[in-house]
Amino acid sequence: MLPKWHVLFGAILALIIWIAAPNTSILYILLFFFSSFLIDFDHYICAVLNTKKYSLGEAFEYHKEMDALDLKRRKKGIKEKGDFHLFHTIEFHILVGILGLYWVGFFYIFLGMMFHSLTDIYSLIYSSEVYRREFLLVNWIYGKIKNNN
Ligand SMILES: [Zn+2]
Repeated sequence: MLPKWHVLFGAILALIIWIAAPNTSILYILLFFFSSFLIDFDHYICAVLNTKKYSLGEAFEYHKEMDALDLKRRKKGIKEKGDFHLFHTIEFHILVGILGLYWVGFFYIFLGMMFHSLTDIYSLIYSSEVYRREFLLVNWIYGKIKNNN
């Protein structure tokens, strides 16, 4: 899902939370809102690592090219995982969730990430691209070890 949609949906839900629970600190509402789309920073990191270019426009272009490449492969019946996105793994969500037990701000970041990931999963299912994502950090590490042997 494109970041602009994450920003829009995150803003709508942040507003709903604010209206439903007006005593919630604005800091927590903002943490929810920003985490609902900044989790995609890992996509930017992947683009920079693969293109050696730091521009956001280049990063969008990179992902467009990767999507086109994947579509071509899919038409040939090849379904491969895309780049690994650390912030989108279950382990990273659990880590932030645990940190939320120590500072409530992390709990709101966790909620923002969860909301983001649910919309991502919906979008991946809708476009039949669930296979592209590695959800488990442990699987990715295992794959790296296996490929190096
Ligand atoms: Zn995402």
